[in-house]
Amino acid sequence: MSRVTVGPAATELAGEEFARLLRPGDVVLLSGPLGAGKTTFVRGLARGLGVSERATSPTFTLVRQHRCHNDRGIATLHHADVYRVTSLDEVLDLALGELVEEAAVAVVEWGELAAPVFGADVVTVSIAVTSDEGRTIDVDGAGARDRAEAMARWAS
Ligand code: ADP
Ligand code: MG
Repeated sequence: MSRVTVGPAATELAGEEFARLLRPGDVVLLSGPLGAGKTTFVRGLARGLGVSERATSPTFTLVRQHRCHNDRGIATLHHADVYRVTSLDEVLDLALGELVEEAAVAVVEWGELAAPVFGADVVTVSIAVTSDEGRTIDVDGAGARDRAEAMARWAS
């Protein structure tokens, strides 16, 4: 399932609309090169979950928690960025697995590095840069397949 965006506002909107498909306990692994728009996507996703403060890149803190205000049972957004992590050992040290909570959603930038921690039941979002302002956002993963219809609507 993929969605094309032109400009950061469109990626933010894609993130906001994507948030409506999320359920408590979901783990979203974001991949794509530096500057692809991962943080931009999360900013919209946070808005879609009813986070009131602005989502900034957590690069220096690795994980940030945001309180959510929605009626879907998602009380917390964990936003991690493992860009600076260089080995799987370090990923394991971060204990990211603990971010998987019943009433929370975890979103991980450079999530492909952390994939072994989470196993198969994740949603993957890959952002490809196609031009200055153009991005293609691909959604996949076992966690996405059971809501393929909603995803297809998100993509169209
Ligand atoms: P990442 O977290 O992947 O490193 P950011 O979201 O921090 O990326 O930054 C994306 C950069 O690309 C921003 O400077 C943004 O203005 C720019 N940009 C241009 N077009 C887009 C687009 N379609 N979607 C997202 N960002 C875009
Ligand atoms: Mg980022």
